[in-house]
Amino acid sequence: MSRRPLVAGNWKMNMLNADGVALAREIAEKYAALKSPKCDVLVCPPAIWVAGVAQAVAGKIAVGAQDCHAAESGAHTGDISVPMIKDAGASFVIVGHSERRTNHHETDADVKAKAEAVIKHGLTAVICIGETEAQRDAGKTIDVCRSQIQGSMPDGATAENVVIAYEPVWAIGTGRTPTTKDVEDVHAAIREAIAAKTDKKTADGMRILYGGSVKPSNAEELMALPDVDGALVGGASLKAADFWAIVEAC
Ligand code: PEP
Repeated sequence: MSRRPLVAGNWKMNMLNADGVALAREIAEKYAALKSPKCDVLVCPPAIWVAGVAQAVAGKIAVGAQDCHAAESGAHTGDISVPMIKDAGASFVIVGHSERRTNHHETDADVKAKAEAVIKHGLTAVICIGETEAQRDAGKTIDVCRSQIQGSMPDGATAENVVIAYEPVWAIGTGRTPTTKDVEDVHAAIREAIAAKTDKKTADGMRILYGGSVKPSNAEELMALPDVDGALVGGASLKAADFWAIVEAC
């Protein structure tokens, strides 16, 4: 089963408008200049910049939001709905990032409701999962990932409307990464968990990204692993040269 890799940049709460537009435009121009690109590229700016970035990249690369509310509208001060994100020109939404799970106490059920809203409106959900350092030290990595797939993935998930991002919490922004063997083992176990929740065909077609301190120097070996279908990149997505080097590694 061939899966087209996806390299996604999560800008988190970084970038002012002009810098973000310039960064996204540079990546979009480079991508558009490729004769036959072998992967998809996505940038996820802060919500306030989604519309401007979508306009700047003009469909050359995909644009996504970093979170959404599960409801379509209503009394949710400060929140943003999927129809708003879609209207702004985005086609992806990251849900369940560990920073949301930790800082905003989001549960698997919350993440599932958000992912349901994303796919209901025809966008693609990038569902983040991953273990903490304590869970890893206790040998629970695969159990945690299995249970997060079971609890966070919506029933209507397909290989087209859902992407999974495996992000060990202890590897995010720390410069530390698991061994390539660990990454491959966990990705294979995640694919089995997806098959158990959906079916084998869906699991074989679904992209599983690795995230956590991906940088130009380690991208090639991580992206070469059979069950790794691209990367979710935080820090290194803020510099065009670094992000582009990761795209090229794919
Ligand atoms: C992330 O937050 O999704 C991430 C992977 O961050 P970093 O690449 O900086 O570790």
